[in-house]
Amino acid sequence: MLSPYAEPVPAVPLDHAQVPLSLGIDIGGTKVAAGVVDGAGRVVEELRRATPGRDARAVEGVIAQLVRELSERHAIASVGIGAAGWMDLEGARVVFSPHLAWRDEPLRETLEAMLGRPVLVTNDADAAAWAEWRFGAGQGRDRMVMLTLGTGIGGALVIDGRVERGSFGMAGEFGHQIIMSGGHRCECGNRGCWEQYASGNALGREGRELAGKHSPMAAGLLAAAHGRRKDITGSLVTSLALEGEPTARELVAEVGEWLGLGMANLAAALDPALFVVGGGLSAAGELMLEPARRAFRRNLTGRGYRQEADIVAAALGPMAGLVGAADLARVRQK
Ligand SMILES: [Zn+2]
Repeated sequence: MLSPYAEPVPAVPLDHAQVPLSLGIDIGGTKVAAGVVDGAGRVVEELRRATPGRDARAVEGVIAQLVRELSERHAIASVGIGAAGWMDLEGARVVFSPHLAWRDEPLRETLEAMLGRPVLVTNDADAAAWAEWRFGAGQGRDRMVMLTLGTGIGGALVIDGRVERGSFGMAGEFGHQIIMSGGHRCECGNRGCWEQYASGNALGREGRELAGKHSPMAAGLLAAAHGRRKDITGSLVTSLALEGEPTARELVAEVGEWLGLGMANLAAALDPALFVVGGGLSAAGELMLEPARRAFRRNLTGRGYRQEADIVAAALGPMAGLVGAADLARVRQK
């Protein structure tokens, strides 16, 4: 079977009404979100359920329930599943999923038998990138890198109208480029990965570390966390930065600088026209992106003699994964 990613796909067709509805399902560690998506990338209806632990059969049951419920009200032609992890190049098997018990799981086969519809299984970062390229901040750009900053860094690459998956389905794991030899330990087993420096988790860790030094600089962070150091998280520091708390702003800017440094590395390898930054940490907006642009320019190979990629915030927000999974499933049907 042809890989869904193999053929370039045209931009959004003019007559959206001619395009069948597709259902996108985004499986996260805590919730499963399902949305019916039309040909213009709009979510017609959305439902959410709690993720029923790590049990694969229970998750499949929740997916089937959501599809059945939404099918009662909408003519759904295809189903796209997005989850963290490594998927095969055919969009059929989950090779490994960090939050769920799927290991070399033939998820497409199982779900197609349960649902009676074509199913596509895709990486959540690939899905979000696809949505941004088709309907969001990446429209019309020939080479786009998407970075989703949350607990780690989700990465994906869209080139000439297709998601670049690599030879083994592992392309886009940008968060694990080693940016600091011997640096912070990463859950992947290495030290000094980019996502240990430019993610929501990194921001929270830096805040807690500062508070642990009993620095007066950390007074604002500790007060907001009601004196509990462990409650200083990336999202708390982000909110404080947006409110103008000076230490939180410094920490966000520092994370932005690490972000820009890693982007300069990616530009040396991939030369994209555009970086799109999404995920929870992107709520910091220009407080993070402006330091990122400065660090990017300072570290860019050939600076002063080359065109520079744009660095922009994602346009679609938390729905991007769901919209992209739905659209990738629909595109495969053509
Ligand atoms: Zn790593």
